[in-house]
Amino acid sequence: MIEQALLEILRCPIGKVKLKEENNFLVCTRCGLKFPIKDGIPVILLDEAVLPEGVKHISEIKCAKKQ
Ligand SMILES: [Zn+2]
Repeated sequence: MIEQALLEILRCPIGKVKLKEENNFLVCTRCGLKFPIKDGIPVILLDEAVLPEGVKHISEIKCAKKQ
C-alpha cells in the first residue's frame, strides 16, 4: 500500500492529475496511464508507464490533449 500522504502529492507527469492505487500500479484518474509500484515505491516515469487499453502512443492519452 502506498501511504495516503504520498498519494496526495504524486501526479500524472503529463496532466498533473491525481493518481489512484490499483493492483500494484498508480493510475492517472484522467488519462489512465499506469505507473508501476516496485518494491513499494511508485515509479512515476514515462519510460516505465503502461499505456491504457486501446492507446498505441502516449500522444493519444487524454492528459496529452489540450482541453
Ligand atoms: Zn494523466
